[in-house]
Amino acid sequence: MNQTLNVAIIGGGFAGIGTAIRLKQKGIEDFALLERGTSAGGTWRDNTYPGAACDIPSRLYSYSFAPNPDWSHTYSGSAEILGYIEHMVEAFDLRPHFRFGHNVTDVRWNDATSLWDITFDAQPTMHARTVVMASGPLANVSFPAIRGLDTFTGHKIHSARWDHDYDFTDKKVAVIGTGASGVQIVPELVKVAKSVKVFQRTPGWALPRVNFETRQTTKDLYRRFPTVQTAARKAWFWGHESVALGVVWNSPLTRVVEAVGKVHLRRQVADPWLRRQLTPDFRAGCKRLLMTSEFYPALQKDNCTLVTWPIATLAPDGIRTVEGIEHQADVIVFATGFDVCKTGTPVPIRGRGGRVLADEWSGGAKAYKSVSVAGYPNMYFTFGPNSGPGHSSALVYMEAQIDYLVDAISFALSRDVVLDVREDRQRDYNDDLQKRLQHTTWNSGCSSWYLTEDGFNATMFPGFATQYVGQLKAVDYDDYAVSEYRPLSRSPR
Ligand code: NAP
Repeated sequence: MNQTLNVAIIGGGFAGIGTAIRLKQKGIEDFALLERGTSAGGTWRDNTYPGAACDIPSRLYSYSFAPNPDWSHTYSGSAEILGYIEHMVEAFDLRPHFRFGHNVTDVRWNDATSLWDITFDAQPTMHARTVVMASGPLANVSFPAIRGLDTFTGHKIHSARWDHDYDFTDKKVAVIGTGASGVQIVPELVKVAKSVKVFQRTPGWALPRVNFETRQTTKDLYRRFPTVQTAARKAWFWGHESVALGVVWNSPLTRVVEAVGKVHLRRQVADPWLRRQLTPDFRAGCKRLLMTSEFYPALQKDNCTLVTWPIATLAPDGIRTVEGIEHQADVIVFATGFDVCKTGTPVPIRGRGGRVLADEWSGGAKAYKSVSVAGYPNMYFTFGPNSGPGHSSALVYMEAQIDYLVDAISFALSRDVVLDVREDRQRDYNDDLQKRLQHTTWNSGCSSWYLTEDGFNATMFPGFATQYVGQLKAVDYDDYAVSEYRPLSRSPR
């Protein structure tokens, strides 16, 4: 097998697949999708918990270059999204490019060959002229550092590694976590379990999510007239852009978002004490907004209880809270999020002269326009530092990154050059970015997975999606040191 590739894409989820499609459309076929799992889909392959769905409308949470007229609802469930991903793999003939069971353990720039050396835990080393890091921020699950975690003798399930063999019928269930995953799981569990106790540490801002079924006539219309579908996508795009002023920036409009959240809470929860327990004490948008019309009603079912006392320890039969009560449970569901890499790298990465990216990012990750990092030539990141949207679809941002990096790759391959972003451009970009972040809701004083423990925001982009996409519209090669590709001792092909 050819072990020296033009492009190695690390990760076979949305970002990796999008990159592969765009490379093919540019006529670049010598690439591989290196995937540690046994199938494609990334986070949507892993997140199969009951109720798993996307809280961004499907028309916008999809690629514009792979429109799907058949979305069944405004907001799709995880199985349908995974189906869309699998459809893209077949439709764009990506299967031959997949290398499953390739768990990358090290990525290292070789100054002598001008190639990236990629090593795996159980596969021979590969070499590539370009590496695209598409491993995604939400790949590794996070169990909280709660005392007694191993003492619990019942069943433990993490939201992102659901155990479909476990039967919740008539079980006593404890759910830890009320983030985007927790609020989707609880309404499903209350339908089957004997009891559900929801352990909430911090109440989040919830907004209504109204999900309509798409009529067949609408699907037919989209199929016959793709421009109508494009127009629908644009309408969703601008609808989301319009809420950025209140969600991204800590502004008077944030109060409007909070007012909508309070009205939603008041309409769905009659009991003032429960309402108080569910009322957030931070600015809306600081943590991810919860889009749900089902969570509050589920909490008020006879078999559901909200527990707001902090957890002291897990015990053999359940969860003990600080006031001394032990809550018995047959199973604990950990909806406690992901181990998001904000200060290191998902795998060890060494660049020019052996520099180590994890060291450079130890105070917080920084990149140029979230895509390139100085000293790491011909390497590109999808969903890299400061590329997260608070108000729009991650796929809109990802599509912009992909088009940018595919243009750069195509340029470098066709001219036989190496591209390394200039340190000064990267520094100026980040200085400006961090200044702008100070005025955002994310930096307004709450803890979230967006921030490092020191409060550094290496995750979100402080602006409109239009601005983010605009800055990636075209590669300015003045931003890069361009050197000739001169492999001295290339590995045998
Ligand atoms: P998350 O937002 O990080 O929420 C984790 C939850 O667990 C929080 O409620 C957190 O409380 C709680 N928690 C963590 N450690 C705890 C502890 N020691 N004791 C008690 N509670 C603890 O994780 P997530 O809900 O899985 O969502 C992660 C991200 O996945 C989201 O932000 C989103 O980007 C993505 N997601 C998206 C969708 C979608 O619809 N598009 C759906 C699911 C997930 P605190 O708030 O107090 O930390």
